[in-house]
Amino acid sequence: MGSNQVTAKSLNIRSILKALLYHQQISRVELAELTGLTTATISNLVNELLSQGLVRENGIEQVISPRVGRPRMTVELIPDARFAIGVHIGIGEYQIVITDLLANIVSFTTQKFEVCESAEIVIQEIVTQIDLLIIQSGISKNLIVGIGVGASGLVNVETGVNINAPNLCWQHIPIRDWIHLGTGLPVIVDNNVRLMCLAEAMFGEGKTDNVMAFVYARVGVGAGLFVNGKLFRGMAAGAGEIGHSIMIPDGGEKCSCGNHGCLETLVSQNAIIKSAMYLAEANPTGILAQKFGDCQSNEMDCVFSAAQDGDEEVLKMLAEKAKYFGIALANLINILNPNLIVLGGILEQGEEYFLPEIKKVVNEYSFSHLGDQVRICVSGFGQKTGVIGASALALSTYFYDLNEIQEQEKSF
Ligand SMILES: [Zn+2]
Repeated sequence: MGSNQVTAKSLNIRSILKALLYHQQISRVELAELTGLTTATISNLVNELLSQGLVRENGIEQVISPRVGRPRMTVELIPDARFAIGVHIGIGEYQIVITDLLANIVSFTTQKFEVCESAEIVIQEIVTQIDLLIIQSGISKNLIVGIGVGASGLVNVETGVNINAPNLCWQHIPIRDWIHLGTGLPVIVDNNVRLMCLAEAMFGEGKTDNVMAFVYARVGVGAGLFVNGKLFRGMAAGAGEIGHSIMIPDGGEKCSCGNHGCLETLVSQNAIIKSAMYLAEANPTGILAQKFGDCQSNEMDCVFSAAQDGDEEVLKMLAEKAKYFGIALANLINILNPNLIVLGGILEQGEEYFLPEIKKVVNEYSFSHLGDQVRICVSGFGQKTGVIGASALALSTYFYDLNEIQEQEKSF
């Protein structure tokens, strides 16, 4: 019975924390309404959270009804009462962040590594950088609730093993255990694009949406899915592999997955650069060829720069790519029926070239009026969506514990 009480109490506390996460400043009465708990229970638990230094009360005058004139106390989380660490492992680059409870960035670092470098060396470097970042931030380690890691490819969230990351040549890498061993902090690992979706669901565009997808394109193309208030991983962590939707079954280019004609072969960063190279070759005096000739940065940036300068052929090519994205999203909408799709990576970077065409194609191709009902936008976190998502995973697992109360959803 004792342990049941503890469980019920901790579930109630999590409900309160979750309500505070999504509603910021609310009164005890509103907390009771949102969580379904009695006002007496809310008062007890809020007092406990106050004594732990996790929340504070503000006496703000609120004109809400004829019963005016009485200051109404609102409760809110103290953002810097605890912290989390996020690690985003991309292709040849990783980012590490320390955030507060509302995913505000306190410290950040980004480092490059050799693709196909030994995973053990890369993870060791990450551990060293985590230690450095903690020291630099001046945050006491015991205020850090844990570490979330977003890794490329297939990840088993239960074991923290990166099963297969073909773009990094990594297989069966026990990321969770290695980072835990190095830092002594609790660690949880998931796919990096799935965590971008979590960033948006907890702290970004999707805070009020129950069914959403995050679609990311750069070296690879993938999606994170958030269904009824939690990440949807599928039976074997493979949900969201939209990049391997077959678009051209016969005669399509070979994909890294072994199939032919996957979406990724048409719209990944490399596929777009390859199409651009053909265009530049065909028109060696054109804007694009000049951009490639002077290219100091990433070739993708040069393609967007040519588009910005009005290169008609490049604009046409990008519109074609957007059409493929749009068709893939229409298929996704027909299966998932989301409220929201957030786009990241090159889709966010080249928003003005992709988004209008994608919206048009989605409306044209999705079933009935499903396409009209979905909001499509780009991520507001820019290049940091993945690392904020990694921190969001640590916060949701070790602080808000959203997975434990997933049945209650975000319905309030
Ligand atoms: Zn494929």
